[in-house]
Amino acid sequence: MAVAQETLEQLRRQGLESVDPEIADLLGQELERQRGQIELIASENFTWPSVLEAVGSVPTNKYAEGYPSKRYYGGCEVVDEIEATAIERAKAVFGADHANVQPHAGAQTNMAVYMAAMQPGDTMLSLELSHGGHLTHGLRVNFSGRLYNVVHYGVSRETNLVDYDEVRDIAKNCRPKLIVCGGSAYPRAVEADRFREIAGDVGALLLCDMAHFAGLVAAGLHPNPVPHCDFITSTTHKTLAGPRAGFILCREEHAQAVDRAVFPGMQGGPLQHVIAAKAVCFRIAATEAFRDYQRQVRANADALAETLVEGGLELLTGGTDTHLLQVDLRPTRWSGKDAEERLAEVKVTVNRNTVPFDERPPTVASGIRIGTPAATMRGFDDDDFREVGRIIFEALGDAPELGALAAQSEELCRRRPLYPGFRGFTTYAA
Ligand SMILES: *Cc1c(COP(=O)(O)O)cnc(C)c1O
Repeated sequence: MAVAQETLEQLRRQGLESVDPEIADLLGQELERQRGQIELIASENFTWPSVLEAVGSVPTNKYAEGYPSKRYYGGCEVVDEIEATAIERAKAVFGADHANVQPHAGAQTNMAVYMAAMQPGDTMLSLELSHGGHLTHGLRVNFSGRLYNVVHYGVSRETNLVDYDEVRDIAKNCRPKLIVCGGSAYPRAVEADRFREIAGDVGALLLCDMAHFAGLVAAGLHPNPVPHCDFITSTTHKTLAGPRAGFILCREEHAQAVDRAVFPGMQGGPLQHVIAAKAVCFRIAATEAFRDYQRQVRANADALAETLVEGGLELLTGGTDTHLLQVDLRPTRWSGKDAEERLAEVKVTVNRNTVPFDERPPTVASGIRIGTPAATMRGFDDDDFREVGRIIFEALGDAPELGALAAQSEELCRRRPLYPGFRGFTTYAA
C-alpha cells in the first residue's frame, strides 16, 4: 500500500474514494457481488436507500450514554429527538407499551432481556438450535449457555412442528424462569398465545424473539406476539429491512429492568446514526407500500415452495407460513454443504442448515434454508420465484447444465436491478 500523501487539510475535506481507493474499490465489489447473484439467505435483506443514508450520517460522532433527556453527556438535544422518534414509532408499529432501540444487534437484545429477567444460574426453556432455534437461546459456547441453566424443547419427529403438549410437560418439570419462543429456521408461525398459556401454567416470563419475522408482524401477516409476551426481541435488518441492529419491546412493568440491562448493564454509548436509521425503518414499516412488499415476500415464499415440491424436493412441514423454507436434503444424495456450494455455482446464494434430528454436524448439515425477503426487495415476483425454484431443483438434479443455469440467474438479476445508479456508499460532497 502506498504511503498516504494527503495533508491534514485534504483529509478534512475528501471523501472515501480519494482517501482510501482500496476500501472504496472493495465496497464497489461488494455491491457488484450483491447485484450479480440471487440472494436467498433468509436472514438477509437489501435495506432502503434512505436507511443507507442515515447509517452514513453525523450522529456517529455523538456520545449519548443514557436515554432521551437522561444523558450523561451534553449536546444531546437533537439525538434525544431522534431516539424518542424511533421509540414512538417502534411502539406504534407493534402496539407495545415500551421500546428500547439501543441494542447494537439481535444478540444484544437477548442478552439484555436475560439480564432483566433472570439471575445467572436460573433456568430458561428455549427451542433447540438444530430444530430452528438460535445460538443466543442457550448454545453451550454462547454467553447464554454459559450463564444460564438451559433446557430445550424441540419439534415433533412426525410433523416438524413445535409440540405444545411436550413444551408444557418440559416446562412443568424444569420450572423455567423464562420461556423463549421464536427462532431462526422455523418455517411456520410462532404461536405466542399458546406459549402464553404454558408460561402462565408454570409462572414463567415469556420472551418472543421475532428477529426473523418482525417485518411480517408489522405488516399484519404473522400473528403479533406483543399482546402475549412480557418481552419481544428483534433485529431490524431481516424481514424488517432496516439497518443492521436490534430493538426490544416489553410490558411497562419490565421497562426499567430492560433499559437498565441495555445501559449501563451491557452497552456503552448507543449508535445514534443507526438509531436514526431504525426510526426511518419503523416509519417505512407503517406504510401501505411496506405491506405490499411483505405480501409479495409471502407470495414468493409460497410460489417457491410449490415449485420446489413439484421438482421433487422435500420441505420441512411441507411449506411455509413465513418468508423462509427449509429444504430437507436427507432423501437426496446432497448434504447441506454440497448443495450450498452447487447453488453458488449457478449464482444462487443460500445457507446450509441442520434439520431436526440431523445426523450430520452443523458444518455439513442436511438442509438448506431459503428466504425470499432480499430478492423480493429488488423486485422479484411470483413468476421470477418459480424460475428460481426451477434453477434450484435443476442444479441439484442429474447432469445439470450449470453454465446455462448461471446465465439464467444472471438474466433474472439484470431484469431486477439492485440500487441502480448507486456505487455502494454515500458520497461526501462538501
Ligand atoms: C438473527 C437472529 C438473532 C441475532 O441477531 P444478530 O443481529 O446476528 O446478533 C437473534 N435471534 C434470532 C432468532 C435470530 O434469527
